[in-house]
Order: sequence, then C-alpha cells, then structure tokens
Amino acid sequence: MHEVTLAQEIVAMVEAAAQREHFTEVARLRLEAGSLAGIEVGALRFALESMVGGTCLAQAAITIDEPQAIGWCSHCATEVPMQQRMDPCPRCQNYPLRPVSGHALKVLDLIVRDT
Ligand SMILES: [Zn+2]
Repeated sequence: MHEVTLAQEIVAMVEAAAQREHFTEVARLRLEAGSLAGIEVGALRFALESMVGGTCLAQAAITIDEPQAIGWCSHCATEVPMQQRMDPCPRCQNYPLRPVSGHALKVLDLIVRDT
C-alpha cells in the first residue's frame, strides 16, 4: 500500500509548509494523480482522511484530480493520450510512448484559511 506512504509524505510536507509560512489551518488541498502515476486514488483519499486529524489539514477539503496522461510518440512526432505505461501509440501502434504528463503525484493548490 504505497498510498499510505504517499499520504504520509503529503501531510508531512503540508505541516512543514505550515511551520515555515506560519499558517495553522488549510481550507483546501488539491492534488493531481496522473493516470500513469500508479496511484489508487480511493486508497490515497482514505489514507489521507485517516491521518489528517490533529494536523493543519483536519478541516481541509481534499480533492484529487485524475488527469489523462499524455505521451510523446517519436514516430508520429505528436502528443497522444496514454492509459498505461506500456501502451502503443493509438495512431501508429509504435512503441514506446514517452510520458509527458500524468505520471506524477503533485500538489496543485494549497489554500490556507486566514486566521
Ligand atoms: Zn505514433
């Protein structure tokens, strides 16, 4: 269950930011888990919700976007949608596609409540 580890890293990162930036409460946290990131979004959400108690994220609305990953096909010299890491190009069926986006877990927005 690497989602638990990822959730721990996210909470630790936000807590470190809270100390550095002197905020105590997060209103909204928006994450992006690309379709190639290998993340079970339901498990990540569950892990996050189970560990935010007592942190600055306790009251935060957490959203997790799941954008379609994009790959680069060197054969067509074009960007194409990707579902799986080992997918062939949907236009020319060549391998491999090089992931351009959607292969990472990112924090998109962190909105802090003014106190
Ligand atoms: Zn192609």
